[in-house]
Amino acid sequence: MSSEAESAVFGRSSAPLRKAVAGDGCYIIDSDGKRYLDGSGGAAVSCLGHSDAHVKQAMKDQLDKLAFAHTGFFTSDAAENLARKLVDNAPDGISRAYLLSGGSEAVEASLKLARQYFLETGQPSRHRVIARRQSYHGNTLGALAAGGNAWRREKYAPLLIEVSHIAPCYQYRDRRDDESLEAYGQRVANELETQIQRLGSETVMAFIAEPVVGATAGALDPAPGYFKRIREICDAHGVLLILDEVMCGMGRTGSFFASEQDGIAPDIVCIAKGLGAGYAPIGAMLASETIYRAIADGSGSFQHGHTYHAHPLSAAGAHAVLERLLDDGLVAGVHGRGDRLMAALNARLGQHPHVGDIRGRGLFRGVELVEDRETKQPFDPARKINVHVKKAAMNEGLICYPAGGTVDGKSGDHVLLAPPFIISDSEIDELADKLTRAIDTAI
Ligand code: PLP
Repeated sequence: MSSEAESAVFGRSSAPLRKAVAGDGCYIIDSDGKRYLDGSGGAAVSCLGHSDAHVKQAMKDQLDKLAFAHTGFFTSDAAENLARKLVDNAPDGISRAYLLSGGSEAVEASLKLARQYFLETGQPSRHRVIARRQSYHGNTLGALAAGGNAWRREKYAPLLIEVSHIAPCYQYRDRRDDESLEAYGQRVANELETQIQRLGSETVMAFIAEPVVGATAGALDPAPGYFKRIREICDAHGVLLILDEVMCGMGRTGSFFASEQDGIAPDIVCIAKGLGAGYAPIGAMLASETIYRAIADGSGSFQHGHTYHAHPLSAAGAHAVLERLLDDGLVAGVHGRGDRLMAALNARLGQHPHVGDIRGRGLFRGVELVEDRETKQPFDPARKINVHVKKAAMNEGLICYPAGGTVDGKSGDHVLLAPPFIISDSEIDELADKLTRAIDTAI
């Protein structure tokens, strides 16, 4: 038998963790009473902070009515209401919501739906997926195969389906000096067309991308026009466009879907994280009417499903989250809060010798750390700057999301920031002060 002090939880790492015991607005409180400002919403999850009364009440009410009814037998008011609110606020053409338990499940489902769509429409040769090198789409095998993060993929490579990866839109590192932002966006988007032609368009099923890249690249926002060109290329070659808005959706960038700001609509969009805001484990795959119809009028059912698909308690929680985000105007406030955060970061870190770039949209911001600001030389990965920043930030009482530069040895370490939408001016200043001290301590 294990000793009393040893945790029985099979966690991410064997290193002991502090114990979280309470949430209060933008803060998490540990068992010693220490308060941590949640500067990254965990991993861009907690958009409402940690003590939202409306969401808690909605979940308690649902629990009193019905916790679970298997979707092989029933639908529920909670699932119907959530799906309706999602599609009513979704990009053009999206008409159905398939409710799941998280982001990886949503991505898995999107790949299977794309495949089934082409089977139902008489194009069985289409099965290949194209994604981007700086990307993360989840940790289950299909989603991991789509993602480009070399470190996460390495151990499981023999288990992964083949996905080809093209360059992301990473202007800080890849734009040429003689190139406008728009020209750069077109050039890098055209890589998709080259890849489709190389593979043979009759074999390509889907292109999947995060509109604003989160965990793997630190809030990489695309150049203007980049996604318009991507949409054109997908249309020209009959390839489905799957957008992964698991991190950047649900208002995080200032619009309910990040892709609204790029003026495009996907065929399928995956969401999670901010949808449950940390109160409920939930994700969703939203699909276009064209895809839905092909299956509804074809074989009649999407051959997929999980036991906790459309779970009523999670759905009720997510519906209440959407009421806070959309009806109470929290998404509408994100642009202003985001500008305030950007100004606070620029004031403290804009000229910092080890900060190369501060970027992103709304309350989704990335700080790229470099050895040398002039040459953009990244830190040697062996220095594990990201690990040291995280530790120093926790000591300061700040939760932020640092990650190493893992792709092609080209990108630097970065810190992802994604605070709750309710963050106040003084909390933004506290976040920027604590992050600056953590970076200075770590480097
Ligand atoms: N897609 C993106 C863009 C993500 O950032 C993540 C998680 O970080 C996922 C998918 C996977 O989501 P989950 O961890 O809920 O399975």
